[in-house]
Amino acid sequence: MGEVLEFGTAKAGPGERGTGYIKVGELSDGAPVKMPVIILNGKNPGPKMLIWALEDGDEYPGALGALDAANNVLPDMLDEMNGSMVLLPATNISAFRGNPFGGGTRNSPLDIDQGARLPSIHPGNVYGKHTHQLAYHINQVTEKYDPDVHIRYHGCKQMNGWDRVLYRKSPEGSALDKLARACVTKPGEMCMLTFDRGEPVERPLQVSMESNGGDNGVGNGYNGDSMRDGLLNCMRHLKMIPGEEIVVDKIQYVGYKRVEKPEGMASSGGITTQKGGFFTSLVAVKDDVKAGQVVGVVKNFFGEVVEEVKSPIDGVVLSTYAEAPHIGSGQWRVFAIAARTEYR
Ligand SMILES: [Zn+2]
Repeated sequence: MGEVLEFGTAKAGPGERGTGYIKVGELSDGAPVKMPVIILNGKNPGPKMLIWALEDGDEYPGALGALDAANNVLPDMLDEMNGSMVLLPATNISAFRGNPFGGGTRNSPLDIDQGARLPSIHPGNVYGKHTHQLAYHINQVTEKYDPDVHIRYHGCKQMNGWDRVLYRKSPEGSALDKLARACVTKPGEMCMLTFDRGEPVERPLQVSMESNGGDNGVGNGYNGDSMRDGLLNCMRHLKMIPGEEIVVDKIQYVGYKRVEKPEGMASSGGITTQKGGFFTSLVAVKDDVKAGQVVGVVKNFFGEVVEEVKSPIDGVVLSTYAEAPHIGSGQWRVFAIAARTEYR
């Protein structure tokens, strides 16, 4: 038998599901800021899986997919489930709550400059600004739970793009590489975006599933199906739930490149404009492009092209700007382009 798990007001013994809230701050009237938590505790011992969604409070598909799994699929499997899952479906809860006009915001409106990016400030600081304190409370959960696997959900709302699995570059056949491949359940649906900065971590295994709502999704979209399917397949891979793991034969691996420009450095993963105006992409997601190829244009109010956006590398288009018809200089990336590395 497994152990009893308790986080905030949620509690679940072996074979049970628990839901509740964790207090992560207070508003100026003393009202608590509470983050939801769902515990799925399998009857049998096994891997411990921690999931964070909505660290950026407007990136929905991961949260929708994980909630679908946790509320509609997994509750019926608890008797045969090995190990447990702790899901924080809306980590950046005040950003998720957003503004009075509806919808979430990327960063929390509770920080006066709204500049604190939750994903980049872990493990946080209980004496810091609201989002730093939030990160501290989230990481208290991590420390108490001590997970074997940590899945994070992202997907930039401002772009159309190819869904991807983001993780640290790992040798073929390694535990991390195998887990990352289990996130992909349909050929071509997701690519593998690997990076090699930082020290390798053996435990917990960490992957980030990122959805822009599919190829034709408008920005982030509301469809979390690929995120749900990837999560359930990871659980099959880890033998947490019954069922044969779906194995996709060939998956495209890609990587961003830093490119030296005469005036500075550019990343192929975050191509910005230096002019403002109406933006049009001349290429589609998954198109192959050449270094120097004009991939988009910015036009002024009078229909004149004020900037040609060129690809800095030979690569494949991962995403294109879709938040609005217009954009200011450096306001957001207009393209993410990556080099194809492996296809296996
Ligand atoms: Zn994000």
